[in-house]
Amino acid sequence: MSNQQAYSFFQSVEKSFDKASKFTTWEKGLLEQIKACNSIYSMRFPVKMDDGRIEVIEAYRVQHSQHKSPCKGGIRFSDEVNQDEVMALASLMTYKCAIVNVPFGGGKGGIKINPKKYSVYELEKITRRYTSELVKKNFIGPGIDVPAPDYGTGEREMAWIVDTYASLKPGDIDAAGCVTGKPITQGGVRGRKEATGLGVFFGIREVCNMPEVMQKLGLTVGVEGKTVVVQGLGNVGYHSAKFFRENGSIVICISEHDGAVYNENGLNEEELFQHKKATGSILHFPGSTNLAKSSDALELACDILIPAALENVINGSNADKIKAKIIGEAANGPLTPEADEVMAAKGILVVPDMYLNAGGVTVSYFEWLKNLSHVRYGRMEKRFTENMNTHILSQIETLTDRKVSDAERKFILHGPEEVDLVHSGLEETMITATREIMDIWHKNPSIPDMRTAAYVCAINKVGTSYNELGIFP
Ligand code: GLU
Repeated sequence: MSNQQAYSFFQSVEKSFDKASKFTTWEKGLLEQIKACNSIYSMRFPVKMDDGRIEVIEAYRVQHSQHKSPCKGGIRFSDEVNQDEVMALASLMTYKCAIVNVPFGGGKGGIKINPKKYSVYELEKITRRYTSELVKKNFIGPGIDVPAPDYGTGEREMAWIVDTYASLKPGDIDAAGCVTGKPITQGGVRGRKEATGLGVFFGIREVCNMPEVMQKLGLTVGVEGKTVVVQGLGNVGYHSAKFFRENGSIVICISEHDGAVYNENGLNEEELFQHKKATGSILHFPGSTNLAKSSDALELACDILIPAALENVINGSNADKIKAKIIGEAANGPLTPEADEVMAAKGILVVPDMYLNAGGVTVSYFEWLKNLSHVRYGRMEKRFTENMNTHILSQIETLTDRKVSDAERKFILHGPEEVDLVHSGLEETMITATREIMDIWHKNPSIPDMRTAAYVCAINKVGTSYNELGIFP
């Protein structure tokens, strides 16, 4: 938590929850249970560094809710990790999963390290030791708690986790389901890497396709031609920028911790990424202008602002300078409750994190199902569908005495690959969730913002689930 914030991150989540619970009819005690973090594991363990030093590592795993099992949520590697942050992020996971109908409770993990300061071997040792600590306390497993990537982690770390877990649980044929976001060769699913960014795009596209919402904002319907600013060129920021650009939006600015680059005609995220790889920074990207401070990017005039890095970046001190029409929270918790109030007063639409960035956990769910079913998506039906499509098309061509073009033929005959099914499952999930939240909001106009509507949606689903468990007769 930065000093200037009035609330810690967890308190911010509680505040948003309380704001929304007024629009529900659940008993106070049940609301308290939904809000509470059920289990908190705070650990310290020693790791020997390459130079022989022993470092004590501070790490956490929080299980916010077991109203459904397993718990689910990423593991973050960052200097900023603390118990409050992990609690807040675990809570958001519960609400996120409920909104997108992913049958998991919320969890989150964090290791307080800056991964850039460690060698690969040191990171491997830290990750494996963390995993064995989780195993010892029964805090990981396909039916208990399933981590995933988050800020500062990716496929590589997930591969170390699954390998450590499997070696400690010989004979567990479901061991691959102990973590998601794995490389394909280690039981991962195609489409997981881009899932959060693609989900962000699908969610915002759906909002932009709602004529009454666009009219209120003074915008035209659709994402085409809209100007977009993205904060962060990590996995989520990169893929968000990619899908907006590919679908006709103009990504005018991308920022990172050391500054931002601006081009009113649009940036190409892949070229920028290669530039960063070659030079160590996104700055001085050919054809673009440097902005000195990363935070300057947030204050640019644009249609859609996508904060895709860390929490609390839009807060009481800069909220009134935001000129975007729509803010799509790709990161978790980028706006503080103070910032929310300013946006509501200014008529800026904030599309909230816990549903907008749910693409990652949605595809994690698909990965987990794949691991438990031990079969790749599409393996059973791809060939059958192609044969059937060939047959139907040839009948149509015979009956009409006309032939379709080669491009059309390829499109019609194509049977679903794993990635096609994953993307379509994600698209369906994001569209349904957007409509569900908007519907709650429209039916109750006294709900002040979309975040509150999303919380109402989540609270009602988790509340129903607790009630059905029979804990509160
Ligand atoms: N870390 C991601 C999130 O915050 C993904 C979690 C998961 O896939 O379990 O939603």
